[in-house]
Amino acid sequence: MERTLILLKHDAVSKGITGRIISRFEDAGLKITAMKMVWADEDLAGQHYKLDEAWAKKLYDRTKKVFDEEGKEMPYKDHMHMGQKIQGWNKKFLQEGPIIALVLEGPHAVEVGRDMLGHTEPRQAAPGTIRGDFAKLESYNLADKKQRVLRNIAHGSDTPENAEHEIHTWFTKEELHEYAKDLDKHF
Ligand code: UDP
Ligand code: MG
Repeated sequence: MERTLILLKHDAVSKGITGRIISRFEDAGLKITAMKMVWADEDLAGQHYKLDEAWAKKLYDRTKKVFDEEGKEMPYKDHMHMGQKIQGWNKKFLQEGPIIALVLEGPHAVEVGRDMLGHTEPRQAAPGTIRGDFAKLESYNLADKKQRVLRNIAHGSDTPENAEHEIHTWFTKEELHEYAKDLDKHF
């Protein structure tokens, strides 16, 4: 059985939409096996958003493509420069206020979780997805202009391996629960 870590970032808490988001995951059949409100400190934020060179490279290439298309100059020296800047913003955002961390379990939980969140950039997130329904006006353009992070409601693990690592970053063994749900007998 697969597990994923979901963080309802402070914009979701601040908008008062966490219950509606959690309901969507429950409606989809995912099992909540851990959940808590946390106000992260610098150390926890740093453990979650580590500067990963491969991530920075992907981020830089993706952004450069858009800037090239628009004929704009990249404001970053290289991928690590950009990665550091975004990582710093991400860490700051994670500490802006309390967030809700949850572990969801089910077949293909990682893929299903990210599918339900929608595209990283809410502007590109399809209606019906969490980011598409609750933050559609947020965009790279806006974040860039305001020199801040993309406020996109939630984080979802991107691979089962990363999910296991992230789950242990946010939860102790005692906080992770095992229990049976009606749907389980069909999986
Ligand atoms: N982010 C950002 N600007 C960017 C790329 C990412 O502010 O150009 C933020 C955004 O909040 C995103 C987080 O960094 O959710 C992590 O980025 P990642 O590429 O892992 O996106 P995700 O997995 O959250 O869709
Ligand atoms: Mg990610």
